[in-house]
Amino acid sequence: MTASSADTASASPADARPDADLAARADRLEALLPQTQCTKCGFQGCRPYAEAMARGEADCNRCPPGGAEGIRRLAAELGVAPLPLDPGHGTEQPRAVARIDETLCIGCTLCIQACPVDAIVGAAKQMHTVLPDWCTGCDLCVAPCPVDCIAMIPVTGERTGWDAWSQQQADAARDRYLARKQRLVREREENEARLAAKAAAKLEALRQEAASSEAERQAQERKKAIIQAAIERARQKRQAAQPLNAAPADPVDRPDAAPAAAGPDHSDHSDHSDHPVPSDTKRPQ
Ligand code: SF4
Ligand code: SF4
Ligand code: SF4
Repeated sequence: MTASSADTASASPADARPDADLAARADRLEALLPQTQCTKCGFQGCRPYAEAMARGEADCNRCPPGGAEGIRRLAAELGVAPLPLDPGHGTEQPRAVARIDETLCIGCTLCIQACPVDAIVGAAKQMHTVLPDWCTGCDLCVAPCPVDCIAMIPVTGERTGWDAWSQQQADAARDRYLARKQRLVREREENEARLAAKAAAKLEALRQEAASSEAERQAQERKKAIIQAAIERARQKRQAAQPLNAAPADPVDRPDAAPAAAGPDHSDHSDHSDHPVPSDTKRPQ
């Protein structure tokens, strides 16, 4: 078979079908997950876990926020028997909400960068606070706080799993998570465009400069080469940028968990989708 015929075969509708089936199955599984994006399952969020289950690469018992009821739902979709929750991923507990001791907060913004659903309000060097109705209890903000001023407060009494979390809350959390990811991509692109324009202006200014000596001319050439190389690196980086929601589905030691937000002023915050959560995360199980 020639390369071109092989290419044609690989793109045939028949071959595309398994991918479509797999994606549809992942969609159905993802819809059953609580959407806290807590990463306790060992994946970088609910979607990668759903995709791994759809591929048959992960069991249905890795999501503590969904608890036993969540496992039953996933098992039914997968057509397998429910398993007990894997204690390696945590235990089923009442849902908690983060609370910041504002008297201790130093306004470092690390918690905002870690919050996947934009439930923290604040700006650099200012006191931060949690929007309780938006907090999913994922506890991803706890470990990064340098002054230990974030506590997870249980708010659902004895209720756990899906008894402590509604489909409406899950849907809202997913919407905020996706909106945050989109915003971070947009901010990164805007920042890159701003830097590219700055570099191009600097390059043009150097080109306009007249050298008064050979040594100065050589120095200008060196500067131009450095700037041109930086512009080229930025261009290549943009080209290689992953599309939105292309997070790997492999288990992670450190959640990227990261998707910062919505409300308030997040203009100073970097994309925490690349922000690792330390492995010693002080998370309640
Ligand atoms: S453990 Fe957390 S990230 Fe994983 S599926 Fe459950 S809610 Fe989503
Ligand atoms: S990161 Fe903190 S504030 Fe944000 S949802 Fe998780 S627990 Fe709540
Ligand atoms: S991480 Fe802690 S100290 Fe930093 S802004 Fe958040 S609550 Fe304040």
